[in-house]
Amino acid sequence: MSTIFSKIVAGEIPCYKIAEDDKHFAFLDINPVAPGHTLVIPKKEVSYIFDLTDEEYTALQLFAKKVALALKKAMPCERIGVTVIGLEVPHTHIHLIPITKESDMNFSKPKLTVAPEEMTEIANKIAKYID
Ligand code: 5GP
Repeated sequence: MSTIFSKIVAGEIPCYKIAEDDKHFAFLDINPVAPGHTLVIPKKEVSYIFDLTDEEYTALQLFAKKVALALKKAMPCERIGVTVIGLEVPHTHIHLIPITKESDMNFSKPKLTVAPEEMTEIANKIAKYID
């Protein structure tokens, strides 16, 4: 059975897309911990990031770096925080989060609700900075 993220890649479930290449996809997290919170995934369904081959892992990280550089330019922040959890969705994903303080990375606090128009605006802004 396809994961929810594979359905997003296939266009079966809508998303706020940021970038894509033949093996990777980046889109806004639907329940962000901070505005611009982005998920970067391999298109291949692998649940646990450390089950990727060295080549797949390296390619994913390089794609995430490209997205993070664009995110830093698009969103007001000090840095882009990076984390991997994966307890909810069994499809490898890297969280990229614009932060100015440590608590901006806190996944235990209530998630933000961002209006669809604002999500579209944020995704388009980040996408413009992708090299
Ligand atoms: P994790 O698996 O890393 O614990 O959390 C999964 C993340 O995926 C959460 O931050 C959650 O908000 C996000 N997420 C879950 N389902 C969807 C979805 O259908 N669309 C998007 N854009 N994000 C999702």
